[in-house]
Amino acid sequence: MTDDRIAICPECRSDQVTSEHHQAFLINTGEHYCHTMKTQDADSPSKCLECKWEGERKNLLLIDDPKAKKKEAKERAQYERLKAKFEAQP
Ligand SMILES: [Zn+2]
Repeated sequence: MTDDRIAICPECRSDQVTSEHHQAFLINTGEHYCHTMKTQDADSPSKCLECKWEGERKNLLLIDDPKAKKKEAKERAQYERLKAKFEAQP
């Protein structure tokens, strides 16, 4: 995921959720055929490791990543401190 959101289980709100990647191979040669399902596909089978919920990726809830928020707050505080320091200079 490229934004600051994380996917969580729609049942128990756990972030311990999985998404599946399916790959097809030619049986007789063992040659890779194609990626029939990618983890980012909306209909990729998803599971929750906590409560055993099963569904599709699109059913997962997206919430703001609490870690990203914390990082942002820390960076902002750092910036405010530097700014205050700079402004205090004669
Ligand atoms: Zn769950």
